[in-house]
Amino acid sequence: MNEAVLHAEVLVLGGGPGGYSAAFRAADLGKQVVLIERFPVLGGVCLNVGCIPSKALLHAAQIIHEVDEFESHGISYGKPSLDLPKIKAWKEGITKTLNEGLAGLVKQRKVTLIQGTGQFTSPDTLAVQTETGVTTIRFDQAIIAAGSHPTKIPIFPHDDPRLWDSTDALELKVVPKKLLVVGGGIIGLEMATAYHALGSEISVVELMDQIIPGCDKDLVTPLFRRIKKQYNKIWLETRVTSIESHEEGLKVFFEGKGAPESEMFDAVLVAVGRRPNGKLISAELAGINVDEQGFIAVDKQQRTNVTHIFAIGDIVGNPMLAHKAVHEGKVAAEVIAGLKSEFDALTIPSVAYTDPEVTWMGLTENQAKLQNIEYDKAVFPWAASGRSLCLGRKEGLTKILCEKETGRLLGAGMVGPNAGELISAAVLALEMGADAEDISLTIHPHPTLAETFGFAAEMITGTITDLYIKK
Ligand code: NAD
Repeated sequence: MNEAVLHAEVLVLGGGPGGYSAAFRAADLGKQVVLIERFPVLGGVCLNVGCIPSKALLHAAQIIHEVDEFESHGISYGKPSLDLPKIKAWKEGITKTLNEGLAGLVKQRKVTLIQGTGQFTSPDTLAVQTETGVTTIRFDQAIIAAGSHPTKIPIFPHDDPRLWDSTDALELKVVPKKLLVVGGGIIGLEMATAYHALGSEISVVELMDQIIPGCDKDLVTPLFRRIKKQYNKIWLETRVTSIESHEEGLKVFFEGKGAPESEMFDAVLVAVGRRPNGKLISAELAGINVDEQGFIAVDKQQRTNVTHIFAIGDIVGNPMLAHKAVHEGKVAAEVIAGLKSEFDALTIPSVAYTDPEVTWMGLTENQAKLQNIEYDKAVFPWAASGRSLCLGRKEGLTKILCEKETGRLLGAGMVGPNAGELISAAVLALEMGADAEDISLTIHPHPTLAETFGFAAEMITGTITDLYIKK
């Protein structure tokens, strides 16, 4: 067995979006960087088995639905014929292109990339188990970006290939006739959207009293109404008590509101959240505090309790989103390079790329109520948006909350086709401290879905002409 020792000014553990962004930023700031990734490609869960492949499948789903829905508007192509291996190859081609792009960026920045699984062995050494042996890295400073893994429910039968996590669902091996999605959160509903379009009969079971529980109910309702018609069943306030493997399928037992005692499914996707990987890296040998769940606490500069070791991304806390990890990764790299950076973003936007998409940022209305914050609210209906009607859709909403006394934007959310593309304007407005008047006096191009954000602000300032609001 080979034993090699390397030195790193900055060691980055994990090559997902947070890790590679941290490594690249540190290298750009003149640091000598060693990046450790257990898989042969960079990009982590997001690029390889998460955000990117799911968006490819969701785009395919959108085309299938749009073609179908346009039949009543005068264009018909007939029933789509699906070539699963070809769709899969297309999806994998996208990931491969981005993997190659990242490999190029590693070379251009002269980052040393080591493929293997890293474990801390002391506060300044990490052992990497590679294909050829163990490489020990002695580091001056380190950034932990080791991510998270899907939560498993221990009582479920884990050796049955018909019981999926999100990675299995994205493999697109089969389109099950009857698919049960356990967890009505973002992953569950995005995969339900894709498999429904591919032809599965979908049922969803969710523990809470609404799907996507972190979002205000009024923004989720248009999605809920649409999928309620499309899917077989959506059981809320219901849990799965056990699953039995049978030759003819998975027999699932339920407990809760309106659910049957049991039902047979051809596949079950479990999407009930993710767990941080804090307990998988021998952090204790470096003296790093890891909590019961596996999270590593950090300060605003992403520093752990060990002053020369930083942590970013899913492993430091919710929300487990790539854009949060990237931002944190840059902060950690900049602090290491001696810049006065800290994580001071006012909000981290969320998007569910379902159909319709649901997105929100800043304060939700639920939070405003809980915190006794006085606000003005406006909800602009996309039924009054010409652009939305041209897409054949009218269920969308754009909602904004502004501080009652000052008019300052506190939060915003949208639901509708492409809503995820609209939220960035609201995030920028919040970061710039804009009030309803600033937004209403900003000229939004017509006809766009984006102008609904301006219309919502005009509802607050009382200047809207696209709706009649009785005084
Ligand atoms: P999630 O937390 O978004 O949703 C999990 C859902 O499962 C929740 O609604 C929860 O109430 C429900 N649940 C929990 N236990 C249950 C049980 N036993 N039975 C039934 N329902 C149960 O988690 P996720 O969808 O698995 O996603 C994991 C992480 O990945 C999240 O942090 C998410 O934000 C992130 N993610 C983001 C995107 C995106 O930004 N578009 C896409 C995918 C994943």
